[in-house]
Amino acid sequence: MAYVISNALILCVIRDQVLRIRASNEEQIQLLQSLESLETLQLDFWKAPTKVDSPVDVRVPFSSVQSVKAFLEHNGIQYNIMIDDLQTVLDEEKEEMRVNQRLERNTGTFNFATYHTLDNIYKAIEGLTAAYSGLITRQQIGTSYEGRPLYVIKFSTGGTNRPAIWLDAGIHSREWVTQATALWTVNQLASQYRRDASITALLDEMDVYVLIVTNPDGYVFTHSSNRMWRKTRSKQSGSRCVGADPNRNWDAGFGGPGTSKDPCSDLYHGQRAESEVEVKSVANFIRQHGNIKAFLTIHSYSQYLMYPFGYKCTNPADKTELDALGRSAASAIASLYGTKYTVGTICSTIYQASGGSIDWSYDYGIKYSFAFELRDTGRYGFLLPTSQIIPTAEETWLGLKKIFEHVQNNPY
Ligand SMILES: [Zn+2]
Repeated sequence: MAYVISNALILCVIRDQVLRIRASNEEQIQLLQSLESLETLQLDFWKAPTKVDSPVDVRVPFSSVQSVKAFLEHNGIQYNIMIDDLQTVLDEEKEEMRVNQRLERNTGTFNFATYHTLDNIYKAIEGLTAAYSGLITRQQIGTSYEGRPLYVIKFSTGGTNRPAIWLDAGIHSREWVTQATALWTVNQLASQYRRDASITALLDEMDVYVLIVTNPDGYVFTHSSNRMWRKTRSKQSGSRCVGADPNRNWDAGFGGPGTSKDPCSDLYHGQRAESEVEVKSVANFIRQHGNIKAFLTIHSYSQYLMYPFGYKCTNPADKTELDALGRSAASAIASLYGTKYTVGTICSTIYQASGGSIDWSYDYGIKYSFAFELRDTGRYGFLLPTSQIIPTAEETWLGLKKIFEHVQNNPY
């Protein structure tokens, strides 16, 4: 009997859903924004309500599914179910990882086509630095809030303080395809030196720095406790809630539109600019280096390639050049598998969002500042199947190469 009861309990536990909502006018956008601020519903907006023509994706906990649907229907707001049972997708992801890890153990080779724990990524970094010891070194640029090292991989063929390109991923911990893509990219960059003419020319002149896991505490938490965790894991005085959004924590329009002062919000900007040690460590590194010419950051999902600004809706001085470069990178990306990217400023592409890294880097004087939002456009969202990791990394590589070439050929 006990067996039957426990089975029944298992069957009716959480069945979170992800809804895709389409607002057809400004009033509906405002209604959705009012939903966002209702803490009791515990909604997790994967894509926030911003403007009429762009869909809103929201993870709805089982306990709120009925009331949210009733609200939408009552107000005549269109929606469809993007993920019917989130737990099933999470279980599938776990199973894929288990199978891939077994394969990895059996073959004895690192498998780039799966998601890895932080420990495994750090082991892979060690392996790569050993395999390409003449080209890459590992450098610790800081320590996370919970005490984990922040490892940057430096590509250099010589010289001192050469002009350099910065690339980071995983500042939002749940965007797993970004850490996986960055790791693949490190391997690709290393293996293409002296094979690919443009990569060889690049690395003969410039250095490249890659931070694969910008938010390691959050990343560990996505593996151990909550796959949907986005923020850092710092304690916030006076609040039971943990963490700040590290991409609202940069010193660029800090605390402005598109952020929250509520520590329980996923968009919480933190106590002050650079309060998050992960952000401060990167900013300090960039400032101390003094010769960074491109600042590229990788997020998911939505298939956007964006340049400044986010904290304001005015165009950057280099808009014409950044837009043309963004478009050429986007068509390179599309050339491989047809994946279509939208190119534009953060403000025009998504919404006004303050305290983001590429606004800070651009205002700091790094002209080539871009943010990628990788696959997909919402079928899986943050839970992109492992089978898409390599195709995503491959197409992104073509976009990155376009930017690398342009940066190298247009010194400033
Ligand atoms: Zn992100």
